[in-house]
Amino acid sequence: MAAASSDFDVAVIGGGAAGAMAAVGAASRLGPEGRVALLESGQRIGRKLLATGNGRCNYSNRRVTAKDYNRPGFVAGVFRACAPEGIRERFAKSGLEAMEEDDGRLYPMSGSASSVLDVLRLLLEEKSVTVYTDFKIYNITADQPWFRLDSSQGYVRAATAVLATGGKAAPQLGSDGSGLKLAEKLGHTVTKLYPGLTALNCPADLQRELGLKALNGLRVSGRAALYRQDKMVAQEEGEILFREYGLSGVAVFQLSRLPGAGLILLDLMPRVSSPELLDMLADRAERLSGRPLEEFFTGMFQRMVGNQLMKVIRLSVEERDCGGLTTEELEALAGVIKGWPFPVEGAKGWQNAQVTLGGLNVEEFDALTLESRLVPGFFAAGEVLDVDGPCGGYNLQWAWSSGLLAGWSAAKVFRQEMSY
Ligand SMILES: Cc1cc2nc3c(=O)[nH]c(=O)nc-3n(C[C@H](O)[C@H](O)[C@H](O)COP(=O)(O)OP(=O)(O)OC[C@H]3O[C@@H](n4cnc5c(N)ncnc54)[C@H](O)[C@@H]3O)c2cc1C
Repeated sequence: MAAASSDFDVAVIGGGAAGAMAAVGAASRLGPEGRVALLESGQRIGRKLLATGNGRCNYSNRRVTAKDYNRPGFVAGVFRACAPEGIRERFAKSGLEAMEEDDGRLYPMSGSASSVLDVLRLLLEEKSVTVYTDFKIYNITADQPWFRLDSSQGYVRAATAVLATGGKAAPQLGSDGSGLKLAEKLGHTVTKLYPGLTALNCPADLQRELGLKALNGLRVSGRAALYRQDKMVAQEEGEILFREYGLSGVAVFQLSRLPGAGLILLDLMPRVSSPELLDMLADRAERLSGRPLEEFFTGMFQRMVGNQLMKVIRLSVEERDCGGLTTEELEALAGVIKGWPFPVEGAKGWQNAQVTLGGLNVEEFDALTLESRLVPGFFAAGEVLDVDGPCGGYNLQWAWSSGLLAGWSAAKVFRQEMSY
């Protein structure tokens, strides 16, 4: 819709998952007379949503609890008011057919993220929300009784405002961090920001030695454990994807929620104990006796993975036979299969990140309403707040629950103001 200068009861800044849900929530509570605007900087709403879950949108998770997030106490407050099951029921009531996969992950049955966006669009239309696109807000003035929201296309005024501009992750999809600056100008503080749920870089001078060029693009399933100062700080099982620059894959994404450098040890056979593995390798050496040593891992690991494991323990394969492996060599091979070391120096960057670690300080917002404790009538929802969860539908669940709550609360505050 073309830009204008208009007045609204509730204006929501940011047309992502949280913002769309906030606008629907506010309009539902205000009823047909309500005037709700959704202001989006991009040409259309929901661009990031279409990219989620590899285009399939893992929109929720049946196992989600507040404890899965970095701010469990705050999230618990929001989930009390806007429970994940309630959100899933709302989606179902609005026509979204769900399909459950491993670990409680929920996807639209169509296999396409566009089904989630279609449902949201329909709700926005049904509730008569006014959507402005190409409408990037660069300034918010809190001038009672109005918030004035300025964009280069014009401005709108609103009695209450919900900030749902996302963080800094994947800026190519609209979330460029500008919303955080808007809140800072209003007096809010922003915690330290890091890219999260993303690949990790290995130091450039070690990439060759680690064999990353040869391994690039290969996937293994195993356990990745992150060590700092010789102490394991986290471990995750799942897919590990080798990249020229470092490590990727879901297991590594989860570890990236703890920002900073460290050492990752990959266990390629997490279900097999070290003694069992040693027996297995000894038996294998006997069975494969007569075969060239360079073929030792053929049929057990991908060729490049097997080659690199031998390189790590500096096993010379020239003119040797599998049957000639010594006990020390078998122990060294078992050791590297259970603990293949990859030093990492940090996240790949914002472009590849799925979420922002850090954001608006949650202590400055009431968890039961999401209203700012500093600026009455101002609310925040979604990734712009310092809340993040693991891969698996947890971050969208946060966006839906916090968005709906902020929209409901903004409508309630507007109503209360009007009744004076
Ligand atoms: C590639 C990828 C895959 C992902 N897959 C999943 C998944 O499968 N499941 C899951 O749970 N999570 C997933 N996530 C994370 C999830 O998408 C986000 O946590 C969630 O979309 C955050 O929603 P949001 O509405 O808070 O922010 P965003 O989705 O970032 O939306 C913010 C919106 O605000 C707009 N905006 C920004 N600044 C302004 C401004 N100044 N004025 C006006 N508009 C503005 C932006 O253009 C954008 O449309 C994925 C993320 C990425 C990048």
